[in-house]
Formats: sequence, C-alpha cells, structure tokens
Amino acid sequence: MNARTSFEALSNPERYRFEWVPCYQCGETKCEPLLVGEEDLTGKEGQFQYVSCSSCGLSYQNPRIHLDQIAEFYDSEYIAHRKKKNWGILTPLYERAMSKHDREKIKLVSNYMQLNAESCVLDVGCAVGTFLLRVKDELGSAISGVDFKDDLSFPRFDEIDFHNGLFYEQDALVPESFDLITMWHFLEHCYDPARSLQKAKQLLQPEGRLIIEVPRLDSRTSKWFGPKWPGVQAPQHTVLFDRAHLEQMVEQADLEIVEHLAYGAFPSYFYIFAGNYFRMFGKGMNLDRIVAPYFLGQALLFPYLLFERKLNLAMQTIVCRRKP
Ligand SMILES: [Zn+2]
Repeated sequence: MNARTSFEALSNPERYRFEWVPCYQCGETKCEPLLVGEEDLTGKEGQFQYVSCSSCGLSYQNPRIHLDQIAEFYDSEYIAHRKKKNWGILTPLYERAMSKHDREKIKLVSNYMQLNAESCVLDVGCAVGTFLLRVKDELGSAISGVDFKDDLSFPRFDEIDFHNGLFYEQDALVPESFDLITMWHFLEHCYDPARSLQKAKQLLQPEGRLIIEVPRLDSRTSKWFGPKWPGVQAPQHTVLFDRAHLEQMVEQADLEIVEHLAYGAFPSYFYIFAGNYFRMFGKGMNLDRIVAPYFLGQALLFPYLLFERKLNLAMQTIVCRRKP
C-alpha cells in the first residue's frame, strides 16, 4: 500500500501536525509503510507511521510529528520519575540500577580512551546530566552538555557547561575542542541525524572519539515484539537504525568506524520487560506498579542476561573517529 493512503487510515488527534520528510540518508521521497507505532510508555494518543525508504531502505517516521509539537512528548512522567527518590523497600535497587547505567557508560568509554583532568567531554542529549557529573567526579574531565529540554533544577546541573537547543544549531561550541563526544540514545530522536554527525565531526579533536548508542532494529527483541518493540518509541524516535544503515550514515559523515558493538550501556532487559508489558497490557506503563516485577524478572533472567553482549538483544554502539 501507498504510504500516504496508509497514513490517512490512522487515527490521530486533529491538533497533531505532521510533515512528510525525504529519507534522512539518501533524500529519496518514495517510501513504503513499515509499521505503526504508538506512545507505549506513557499511553499518549496517536498512531505514528514508520516507513522504509524505497531507495536505500532506511526505516524512519514518515510523516513525522512537527518539531514544535515534539517537546510535549518529553514532558512526561519519565523525567519526573527520575527525580523520585522514594520507592519504599525497593529504593536501593532502583538507585543502583540508575547509577549502574552511568557506570556502564564510563566502562564502555574506557575501553576506547583514557579520560583525565585535561579531557573535554560533550554529551549530546544529556538530559539531567548524571553521566557527565559522574565523568567529572571519577575522571576530573571538563563536562559540557546539550539538550533541547533543560532541567536546571536538577541537583548539580549548574556544574555542567550546558547548551540548550538543537545540537546542530549550537554555535557556541568550539570546533576541534572535544576529546570525547557521546550520544547515548540521541541520534534516533534527531530531526536531522546526518547534520548532527557532521556537527560532531567538526567538534572532535583530531584524535577524539565519538560514541553513539541507539536501539538496533535488526535485533532479537525487535523481531520478537514487532510494532510493540520498545525501540520504536513513537513518536520520539525519528529513525530506526539497523546496523547497516547506522554504519552507512556514519561513513557518509566522513567518520571512520573504530568498532561496532551489538550491545550498549542501556540494559537490553528493559526492552524485554517493556515489550512483554506492552503486548500484554497495551500502552501506558505505570512505573509505580512495575518496579517490583521489573527487578523480579531481571533476577529470573539473570543467567540469560549474562550473555547479553553476544545475543544481539536490543542495542548497538558505534565508536568513531575523524578520518586521519
Ligand atoms: Zn533512503
């Protein structure tokens, strides 16, 4: 079926404004319908179409929700929950899981470079900045962050050299000044990923590294859950990258791939849990109710998750550098 016809059959509130976009990778406007995603996490209204490009095969949201309207999808309980401190007897487990995520990022980075007090680190899509603050505390590096939302009230946020707005529009960041640029689950949200990669390349020191983590479309959980795969995360996710397209886009930006990994710092288990939840209970996940089953499931799956890095479960990470 034609992508326009199939989109017209979907049900969306009148006030949503959509725009058709050419392929982010090759500029082709012809595309075929791929899947329909919903806002499964918070349960907000809408049906969002993903297509595959007729020329290069990139999977992306088309039409996409207008940039002026996307912010409201980031307002949710999501960020509020990150500030919540009291989960009853599960508080220590919850806190450990949150800090583990940032520890995993630092571990991953340290496989590729040694950061120290001389290093400058930029995190694109830094949210409340907990990763950057850990980098500062553990390694002493200078920390900068960009996000189109700001959360200045978060503890210690003022210690980050923070830039608010779209990454590719940041003119205050100094070219060739960063030893490390990280994009943890940023690129798949971006409205112009190719331009963001160009921007990152300009900002990297000649020997610097760019580390990008995104969900992996050609992964096991994606096959298991189809349109209910948590990696769809509509409408926030603009692009659904498989390995080949992620690598192509990076190479088109004239970056050299140092390594591609079939895992990331983000726990794939979250996708196993959330995918099952969405399939069983539909959209809208109440974090208050799921914290206990979440940790129980994780304990039960522990033997399986030991092999996470070999199983291509849900995530991928690509480490890049500027071409010498
Ligand atoms: Zn294309």
